[in-house]
Amino acid sequence: MFDTLSDRLTSVLKNLRGKGKLSDADIDATCREIRIALLEADVALPVVRSFIAQIKERAKGAEVSQALNPAQQVVKIVNEELVAILGGETRRLNLAKTPPTVIMLAGLQGAGKTTLAGKLAKHLAGQNHTPLLVACDLQRPNAVNQLQVVGQRAGVPVFAPEPGNGVGDPVAVARLAIEEARKSQHDLVIVDTAGRLGVDEELMKQAADIRDAVQPDEVLFVVDAMIGQDAVSTATAFQEGVGFTGVVLTKLDGDARGGAALSVREVTGQPIMYASNGEKLEDFDVFHPDRMASRILG
Ligand code: GDP
Repeated sequence: MFDTLSDRLTSVLKNLRGKGKLSDADIDATCREIRIALLEADVALPVVRSFIAQIKERAKGAEVSQALNPAQQVVKIVNEELVAILGGETRRLNLAKTPPTVIMLAGLQGAGKTTLAGKLAKHLAGQNHTPLLVACDLQRPNAVNQLQVVGQRAGVPVFAPEPGNGVGDPVAVARLAIEEARKSQHDLVIVDTAGRLGVDEELMKQAADIRDAVQPDEVLFVVDAMIGQDAVSTATAFQEGVGFTGVVLTKLDGDARGGAALSVREVTGQPIMYASNGEKLEDFDVFHPDRMASRILG
């Protein structure tokens, strides 16, 4: 996903190699190049602005270092600032004091929520949790079935509506699922919710109703990193309509320009917690800002 950006940044920074002390003009020229590379990668403008301002300020104020030459120092600053816009520390899952921990997934249709539900369930089951997947996407005809297939692959049970058991009412299904989790000793519940093709009020209201009914410990906003700048506006709409505590980036295996991934933390203030990079259950990882920054800087 970050190939072009990565190539651009590496070559801009390479130009500094072999220079002695960097003049302010050198730093300004480098920052101009970095700015163009970020904008071409679809990074949101406010994020680019604050990123460049930080780099400029730090690079111009940098003490002469014994250990690093000026070029290495700029690379170090760019790396640190990339880590910062990606969230700094790896953010761990917030677990309920009294189980079950409830994780609700929200996002547009096609973002990869159902797939992610299975990946997350498998990941958490591997950490000695006993998750229960909950099918609250009752809009898309095949969604319940798709979650059941995903659950089977992940080896995690799925709570789905049955006749007399919340059919057609995702809020009722969510409530019943929490009761079921308590009864059957599941320490964790992952609630898949419906997404529409675009943001709409009905979708937001339904997601907010589910949220109110289950009082989640985490609401994860699942977003397709391929949708570029739209990711930022979608995230803002979900933050206002439902509110979320963490972000999951999906489709990082795609060949889009990656700006969404670089913007969403800074724009929403919420951390990126997980990353999905393929269709298979194992194409998934906890998101580490430092590793992502290193990957971008090559
Ligand atoms: P939902 O509508 O949000 O539940 O999205 P789905 O989980 O049904 O995913 C939509 C499509 O994206 C499916 O074809 C998935 O196989 C695919 N998908 C999900 N995550 C990824 C990913 O990380 N990489 C790729 N390449 N495809 C993905």
